[in-house]
Amino acid sequence: MANVRLEGVKKAYGTIEILRNIDLTIDHGEFVVFVGPSGSGKSTLLRMIGGLERISGGRLLIDNEVVNNVDAADRNLGMVFQSYALYPHMTVRENFAFPLRMAKMARAEIKTRVAETSSLLQIDHLLDRKPRQLSGGQRQRVAIGRAIVRQPKVFLFDEPLSNLDTELRVQMRVQIAKLHKQLGNTMIYVTHDQIEAMTMADKIVVLKDGNIEQVGSPHDLYHNPASRFVAGFIGSPKMNFLDGHVEAAHEGGMDVKLEAGATVSVPVQPDQRLVGKPITLGIRPDDFSQSPAQETDIAIELDVDFVEHLGSVTYIYGNAGKQTVVAKAPKPAPPKGSGKLRLAVSPADCHLFTSNGRALRRLRAPADWS
Ligand code: ADP
Ligand code: MG
Repeated sequence: MANVRLEGVKKAYGTIEILRNIDLTIDHGEFVVFVGPSGSGKSTLLRMIGGLERISGGRLLIDNEVVNNVDAADRNLGMVFQSYALYPHMTVRENFAFPLRMAKMARAEIKTRVAETSSLLQIDHLLDRKPRQLSGGQRQRVAIGRAIVRQPKVFLFDEPLSNLDTELRVQMRVQIAKLHKQLGNTMIYVTHDQIEAMTMADKIVVLKDGNIEQVGSPHDLYHNPASRFVAGFIGSPKMNFLDGHVEAAHEGGMDVKLEAGATVSVPVQPDQRLVGKPITLGIRPDDFSQSPAQETDIAIELDVDFVEHLGSVTYIYGNAGKQTVVAKAPKPAPPKGSGKLRLAVSPADCHLFTSNGRALRRLRAPADWS
């Protein structure tokens, strides 16, 4: 096991800066997910940790040692990529054993490790097959096994599930999370899929345009997004954003007049400088309830376009004034597919974002905080 620390880490290709001043600490045994849109720098960051890309500035420490100039092979990391890169002419057993033989490990020890790894991943019955005789999911497990068998300090995964179909992806997600529990190793996992990030991570690092937008637990990022970008990126369906402007700032928060009509007093850190300025109110689709639930609730009048029944949940799509809104249908009444609907939102569940996308700090935990 090992910790990983990045101090002011930079990457540039010529004059183009890909990553700027990355500061990050990853603790022993943590499962950290780098998430962000395509091109945000996730793979580059992971490859620098893995020693596959040179670092243009700053320091990278593994187990408290600076490794900027240490070769990939000497960093003792296990890497798994989207393309499995198994040796096609070798059986699964040989795929596992080959790197250990190259490292001059004793035969008995190799045998033990191969047996342990295949039993951990439940692929004992596949040991004598070649990669072409395996399904996509089985190949992926072999690729993971090949990383495990070397007992690395840290595992690095780069979108390892992208080539699998949805069902298998969900299964493998659970398998990898279980594996992390069993092995207890530090794991760094890259994905563009926020659901993977939310379900697997102890700590999520959100990247955007080569910068860290926010670092936090899945719960933190969902309930206290630091920016409009994170608020929109984490959570599905996406948070709703309603335009308005600030009418007043006082001890209890900020009063916002929405273009859609309602006035809301949101309990956030007040800022007098924002009075009169445009502001965006954020509401998660889950935070709507049947109107009116509480006296302090704000009412949002929705022109319903479409209702989507998914079995366990129903989503309502519509417009509030000029803005589109998605709401999880409050129980018990399943709404009709069109017409007007009045929904309520508790001000404590609302988020506010300034015109530059910064979130105002919420003064109290929302009602469902646990
Ligand atoms: P992600 O994994 O988040 O999709 P990458 O780390 O692969 O993003 O890429 C981040 C940015 O760096 C992208 O804009 C990409 O075009 C650029 N980039 C990646 N590799 C190179 C390279 N070898 N030369 C120049 N630019 C590169
Ligand atoms: Mg990538």
